[in-house]
Amino acid sequence: MEVLLMEEKIIKMIKNYVAAYPHSEGTGWKEPLVAFAAAGDPLFRELRKIVQPAHALPQDFLPAARSVITYFLPFRDPVAESNIAGRHCSRTWAVAYIETNRMIGELNAYLQQQLEVLGFEAEHLPATYNFDKKTLLSGWSHRSAAYIAGLGTFGINHMLITSKGCCGRIGSLVTDLELKPTPRPEEEYCLYKSDGSCGDCVERCVNEALFYDHLDKQQCYRMCLENNERLQGLESETDICGKCMVGVACSHIKP
Ligand code: SF4
Ligand code: SF4
Repeated sequence: MEVLLMEEKIIKMIKNYVAAYPHSEGTGWKEPLVAFAAAGDPLFRELRKIVQPAHALPQDFLPAARSVITYFLPFRDPVAESNIAGRHCSRTWAVAYIETNRMIGELNAYLQQQLEVLGFEAEHLPATYNFDKKTLLSGWSHRSAAYIAGLGTFGINHMLITSKGCCGRIGSLVTDLELKPTPRPEEEYCLYKSDGSCGDCVERCVNEALFYDHLDKQQCYRMCLENNERLQGLESETDICGKCMVGVACSHIKP
């Protein structure tokens, strides 16, 4: 019988769970990417300087934390394509966002339960944790955790570019199980950061929020709220946009 390492077991659990998860017609996910970080990686403490002073550490969720499990759930191509045209977010993109957030919660609860069966503790974090609508800062950045775990590098659109692009959602959870950290990429995946080319995302911004050297978060959020107003009748809030992630070089691949 094949004996899997714990890292391989967790990757398999995540892939199988996502493959079997129900979704609406026209949405759905490609095979996820998974990466692990050491909970003691000094970069987690650096997030208090880079992201915000109140950014949590893995140990704040689980005092005996040893590892952070992160994963990227890539949307299927038609989900991203549905969001290319026009100023406003497509309904398909919004439904995919809601379904993915729901799945992240349930997948994390499943992983926590499976780890407990194996004798380990885990603490799962919601898709959005302590998001402050005034400062637009979160108490835990899944994207930053995934960067630390080696899932990809940041583009100038402030998204994490993975080997399967940036169109999708990221989840993470903390455990006291020791997992081998995934090596971080040595190169920048964003073309503008690596050689000054591209800039597609800046060109695609629909609300003059994204620039080559910064993102105006408040201006970006105004667009997200505009979309939320228009997308009535969905089961939860959809203060999202995503126009700078679709129809660009890094949407589905590492360019
Ligand atoms: S669209 Fe181009 S410049 Fe923008 S994040 Fe992607 S690779 Fe970088
Ligand atoms: S999410 Fe929308 S408003 Fe915000 S930077 Fe991207 S395109 Fe611009």
